[in-house]
This record gives sequence, C-alpha cells and structure tokens, in this order.
Amino acid sequence: MKRYLCLILVLLCYKAHAQTIIKCGQLIDGKSDQPFSKKAIVVAGNLIRDIIDWDKIPVGANVIDLSTKTVLPGLIDCHTHVLLQGDITSEEYDAQLLKESIPYRTIRATVACKIALMNGFTTIRDVETEGAMYADVDLKKAINNGVIPGPRMFVSTRAINTTGHYPIGNGEYSWELHMPKGIQEVTGADEARKAVREQISYGADWIKIYADRGYFRKQDGSFGSIPNFTTEEIQAVAEETIRSKRMLAAHAMTPDGIIYSLKAGARTIEHGSAMNEECMDLFIAKGAFWVPTLTVMDYVAEGRAKLGAVSYLQMYQGVQAIFGKALKKGVKIAFGTDAGGFDWQKIPQAREFGFYVKYGMTPMQAIKTATTVAAELLNKSGQLGEISKGAYADIIAVDSDPLQKIEALEKVVFVMKDGKVEKK
Ligand SMILES: [Zn+2]
Repeated sequence: MKRYLCLILVLLCYKAHAQTIIKCGQLIDGKSDQPFSKKAIVVAGNLIRDIIDWDKIPVGANVIDLSTKTVLPGLIDCHTHVLLQGDITSEEYDAQLLKESIPYRTIRATVACKIALMNGFTTIRDVETEGAMYADVDLKKAINNGVIPGPRMFVSTRAINTTGHYPIGNGEYSWELHMPKGIQEVTGADEARKAVREQISYGADWIKIYADRGYFRKQDGSFGSIPNFTTEEIQAVAEETIRSKRMLAAHAMTPDGIIYSLKAGARTIEHGSAMNEECMDLFIAKGAFWVPTLTVMDYVAEGRAKLGAVSYLQMYQGVQAIFGKALKKGVKIAFGTDAGGFDWQKIPQAREFGFYVKYGMTPMQAIKTATTVAAELLNKSGQLGEISKGAYADIIAVDSDPLQKIEALEKVVFVMKDGKVEKK
C-alpha cells in the first residue's frame, strides 16, 4: 500500500511540474499598448499559468525557445466561411452548391480549417455554411475531438434571409428546377423565430442574417440598399436569438441595412462598407462591433465590376475614408476577412491587417482587432486573444517584428493551440 501511495505522490508531483516554458523574444500580449522583452510564458495543460522573466526560468525546465521571434496570442478571425472556396462570380458560387455534395465540401473545409490554424488563427467565427447545412457543427466537433487540426470554431450554421433574396436565385435557372439556397429562407416573424430555434437546436453559437441587398449609389454619392426583413421579422430574429443567449451577426452594407439591424440588437455588422456617421453613432451607443472584411472587398470589387456589379467597386473606393472616420469616432473594429469569399489557398488571412494599418491604425491597434477586441466580440475576454494568466494557451510566433512591418503576420512560424504545439 505504501508503495502505491509513493507512486501516486510521484505522479502528482510530475503532473504539477508538467509545464512548458515558452521563451519569447518580443512579447505582444494582445492587450497592452507596448510589447515586452525577455519574458517567458508558463503553459500548464491547456492554460497559461504565468508570465515570468527570463532569469526566473527554472533550471531543467521544458523550454520552447522562441527568443529570436515575436510571440503573440493566437489570432481570431471573426468572419470566415470554411465551407466556401472563393466566389468572385456567381458561377463559382453556383458550381460549389450544384456540383459538390455537402460531404465533398466538408472535406474541402477540413483543408480550410488547417490553413486557418497554420496561418496562426487559433479561433474563427464562421459565419454560415452557404448551403452546407450544419456541416460547420460537424467540423467544430471533429476539431474539438482531435479528429482534424483546426481552430476553435464559433459557428452560425445556415444563416437566415427572407424568401427569394439569396442565391441561388429562382430566376437564374429553369423555373422547373428547385434550386438549393445558400441560406434558410423565412417569411414572417413566426418563420423567423422558428429558423432561429431550429438553428440553435442543431448547434448554432451565433445567428447570422443578411439584412440588405440591391446596393446602389445615390446622386449625392452616398449608398442605399433594400432591407431584406420587415421590422417585425428582424425583431423576431433578434429577440429569439438574444433570449436564447446567442448573438446576432448581420450582413449589412449601407445605412438601410445597418441601422435597423443595430436597432434590433445585432452585436456585429459584417462588411458595413458604405456606412455613414449616423451608423457610427449607433454602433457606439449600442456597443456593437464593425467587422470590415476588406480583404474580400479588395478581392471581389474589380471582378464584380467587370461583370456589371459596379456598386462593390464604388463602395470599396469609399471605404478608406469611412474606416478613418469610424476609427476616430471610436467604433469598435474587429478583425474579419471573409476567407472563403476568397480562396483559402491563395491569400493569407493576415493580409487584412495591412488594410487596417494603411487606413489609419497603428500596427498595435490592428493587432488588437484580432486579439482582445475580437475576444470581446465573442464574449470571451480574458480567455482568448491575450497572453495572460488563466487564458487558453493559444500562442503564435513570427520571425520579424509586426510593429515595424505588419506583413510579418502573414508568415506565422509557430502555433500552439490549447497548449498543444500545432506548427513549429
Ligand atoms: Zn461572409
């Protein structure tokens, strides 16, 4: 018996010391305004236990030496579509929905999940499956169960729009065909509530809606659009979402879509490229977040303009000034790329940072959009997006200093997620 007790004691002691020390060159903790030097992160299990000075690293400790690198918290992309593989044109979109089965699309999505993780994005909010039903819930489950590598996922399943307002359009193909839709269609407040309840029952963490369509430039140069929901419908969606302790993400480009979404209770506005000052004031009053997705704007604007949809290019040309104003006013801007709207294999998600810096943020401000600001959006402050005691051990490193050149984040050389090294 004594022998067993000794063994248990030894095992307990071993467990207490089973920790990894990450020796950091420069440390950007995701929440401070300044970087730190000569720090080391103590990781125990899947959590960060402490941050210590180099000279406090215990002799014989299990050390990962990143002393020549810049270390940051795992990044968060608040707007992705792992089940989409680029869709500048409607042909590209339709081909995925019509020629690829959901299992095939899900297999492709596993590659997207791995790319996100290798890009240093240890968390993503995936804002709808574009016709692939609840496959995002399966991907999340497979990642959580260690079946495939991938980021922590917050998923929104099918998304909701009103009848007839989302591809594949009924008029685009022979009317005898019953076309698959990229969203769940609803008409009326009851159907809207039902869709929210259904999606939550299948595992939606967020509810995503498409709030406007038909973008156009007015004579005064501002933009308008057609709201997709009646006030009654959007309120039903928002009420049901919030009552169920979920959060609402609204795709909206112009004030016509943004204002009624924020008034209804949307926590985030996706794209929002043609907002005005009234929208910005409402963002601030409601504590809502703007997820600008400039990478995708840059990717699709010209291609769509060539095909006749000039409004995207016009909005893209105006978004820099809007970004500057929103930043100055203090709108909370959270990092989101719309990866999947562009090809996962071709563009690193971190390209988004470059737009934020070009449009007026300091590199540190830009980094925070994908760390503490994004964590706040997800309601995970203190757990994600920061290197601090008690947070999840989601840690990445890059070779050069992103505070000097933000593009450094496009080449992530080390990834730890949940205390496990995924790339080195
Ligand atoms: Zn999107």
